[in-house]
Amino acid sequence: MIHLEVAVAAPVAETLTYSYPAADKKDLTPGCRLLVPLGRRKVTGYLLAIEKKTKKDYPVKPISDILDQEPLFPPSLIPFFRWIARYYRFPLGEVIRQSLPAGVNPQYGREIEIIAHREDELAAKVTDNRPKWFSHLLTEKKLSPAQVRQIWGGKWRRQLEKWQADGLITIKEIISRPRTRQKTEVCLAITCDLQPEVFSKLKPSEKKTMELLTDLISRSPKTTIPRRTLTRIYPGGGRALKGLEAINLVTLSTEQVYRDPFGEQPPHYPPPAVLSDEQKEALTRIKPAIKSCQFKPILLHGVTGSGKTEIYLQAAQESLANEKTVLVLVPEIALATQMEGHFLSRFGEKQVAILHSGLSAGERYDQWLRISRSQARIIIGARSAIFAPITQPGLIIVDEEHDPAYKQEDGLRYQARDLAVLRAQMAECVVILGSATPALTTYHHGTSGKYQVLTLHKRIEDRPQPEVKIIDLKEIKQKGSPPPLFSAQLKDAINATLDAGNQIIIFLNRRGYASLMLCLDCGNPVQCPHCQVTLTLHKGRNILTCHYCNHSIHSAAICPNCQSTKIKEIGFGTERVKEELAGLYPEARIARLDQDTGNNRRHFLTTLQKVRKGEIDILVGTQMIAKGHHFPNVTLVGVVWADAGLGLPDYKAGERTFQLLAQVTGRAGRGEKPGQVIIQTNQPDHYSLIHSCQHDYPGFFQRECQLRRVLDFPPYSRLINIGLAGEDPAKVEKAAITAANLLSQTCRQQIAVLGPAPAPLARLRGQYRWQILLKGKNPPLLQASLDRFLNSLPRELQSSAIKLTVDVDPENML
Ligand code: ADP
Ligand code: ZN
Ligand code: ZN
Repeated sequence: MIHLEVAVAAPVAETLTYSYPAADKKDLTPGCRLLVPLGRRKVTGYLLAIEKKTKKDYPVKPISDILDQEPLFPPSLIPFFRWIARYYRFPLGEVIRQSLPAGVNPQYGREIEIIAHREDELAAKVTDNRPKWFSHLLTEKKLSPAQVRQIWGGKWRRQLEKWQADGLITIKEIISRPRTRQKTEVCLAITCDLQPEVFSKLKPSEKKTMELLTDLISRSPKTTIPRRTLTRIYPGGGRALKGLEAINLVTLSTEQVYRDPFGEQPPHYPPPAVLSDEQKEALTRIKPAIKSCQFKPILLHGVTGSGKTEIYLQAAQESLANEKTVLVLVPEIALATQMEGHFLSRFGEKQVAILHSGLSAGERYDQWLRISRSQARIIIGARSAIFAPITQPGLIIVDEEHDPAYKQEDGLRYQARDLAVLRAQMAECVVILGSATPALTTYHHGTSGKYQVLTLHKRIEDRPQPEVKIIDLKEIKQKGSPPPLFSAQLKDAINATLDAGNQIIIFLNRRGYASLMLCLDCGNPVQCPHCQVTLTLHKGRNILTCHYCNHSIHSAAICPNCQSTKIKEIGFGTERVKEELAGLYPEARIARLDQDTGNNRRHFLTTLQKVRKGEIDILVGTQMIAKGHHFPNVTLVGVVWADAGLGLPDYKAGERTFQLLAQVTGRAGRGEKPGQVIIQTNQPDHYSLIHSCQHDYPGFFQRECQLRRVLDFPPYSRLINIGLAGEDPAKVEKAAITAANLLSQTCRQQIAVLGPAPAPLARLRGQYRWQILLKGKNPPLLQASLDRFLNSLPRELQSSAIKLTVDVDPENML
């Protein structure tokens, strides 16, 4: 017997040991899945190691089955998983399970069969009020896993188990693996150059088909196009193709296809004729680093439109030339499609794999295997692609590295950008973090020399940065009432842009649930004097509370800044903005994208596509539309109320606002036409605003760092947020107090325990929520304190009525 170290896909902190007959050893490789017994169940386990020592002083259970013929992830990822489990306090097996694409994990089920000749006995067991499934069992002699699932949770389970014990039925545990269906499609290619004399003899429908086909193929990155691309434009083409195939002008073949989330082929992007000087300079530093195969983190700080993508492409080329693979992370799958288009155009589809949520389970499984077999050498995906089973990365790229979407906000709360750096370190390769507005912590590592900084100051072809105008809403408000939505200047600019036939983005970063208290006289939101985060209104109790330190004041407060009593809760969102726009510009085609509408993936993607095609005049939205989309025809960006983000109860409010304004500003004037930006605000003197208008990142960085240093927030400290949630408000509050007391005992001097405080979203999906924030300068010390706390949890905190979550390096404390 040999012993195996296995991480089980269950909330078990430690890895477990199972046995396996030594003679069969050759079948087993770390990275494979096993089926193992755990208590009375059987669960998936991930084989991590085959142990040399075989002596254990306790009985070791044998594994039940081997689920994979080949490893699902390379053994080199195992240390990575172990690190993640430790750092984020998450069971190792669950880390691995969550890192695998949904649909890869096998489904467990039970099948029930009647034992031969015992039907009558079984029938006699239930005579009155026979449930449907029981009759079905009697006639069909069995129940499928889907049917069993419906009754298994209820009162019948014990009965069924008893019938099994009595020998009437068998209950078989089965595993169904995901079926992998490859998508195929009929594709068209042109066989040879079309001679004029042949062409002239074709039927009109055949002529038209040939012309269309020639055009479509010339614009495709491949030499073929799907038949439906043609027939969608020209339904008559279907019949003409038969004739054309018969005379050997066109060939039809069945090809495996990728479906991008748009359901279309991504566009073809030709390489630029020459690189800009700044692009060249950056590449002369990046390429040797890739060649040397050493860990090197690089911050590529390039203003919007400076041509970062081209640098990624050429860096990728270098890595491939070095026989190593490339991983590209993007914050958003709509951007993955854009990125995919660039990489497919340059490298062809044999080399590129894309991992995104738009794939079916089977397609994702296929992509996964293609990657782990090293058939694909460039992998593009959103956050979770950081777990892609690449064996030899030579380059990891994180585009828009500052984007909050890299942080997973439930389950395993990891930060994919941070993990990208870790993975590059473990694999000894280059990692490029690209952004126009780097995260403060990233830039901080740049200034301290931990990361190399490469800067692109100019837009491609020296296109000017858009002109930015700031409108002070305080000057146009009517006394004592909230400001109007649109200033005269913004309305005029919208009119002029519509007249010129150009497109407009109207931006309002307003998350419905943050209730902001704003002073109508000085325009400042009401803040906590200790934490400089906005106080949150708790309506029931009529108080404004700091959810970091629980400092509270009465809601009929006066403004700490100007002593005015005109403090009002502000509430308007993108929906009202769109309504007013529709009233003002009845002719314009207006669309809205925000959390509410954007949750519908299709709608989100088709809306973006319509903007790109010029079918929409005004796009209204939240931060969703600020990301790196490239819309060349957008010449006006209007920000309805720049302060919305500043009102969030978050120490990062200033940073987020700067980033959003700079990003949204970067959406204007990306094409040939120059752009214009109008920002409406109550706080025209706010440093985030001023520096973003001046396109001055270093200025912003210095100012924000001063504030963070005074209050000891990151990058000058590390945070851990401990959340408590439950249905009973009194129990949750009491648990929060218990936890905070315990934490003040387990935390050493240099660690601050802030709270307990109610979360700003004090009630979410029926759960009452409290939180405790730990802040410390020394990460190991902070982690050790957390360990002592987690290892000494009293019963009260382990009860199922209280859900305790740990968020290491939290980014969003709503
Ligand atoms: P960023 O990601 O830095 O905002 P992009 O990579 O999207 O910028 O580049 C902006 C535009 O400039 C794109 O349309 C891109 O194709 C184009 N571009 C990039 N490099 C060059 C170059 N060397 N010459 C001409 N156009 C370029
Ligand atoms: Zn005031
Ligand atoms: Zn506070």
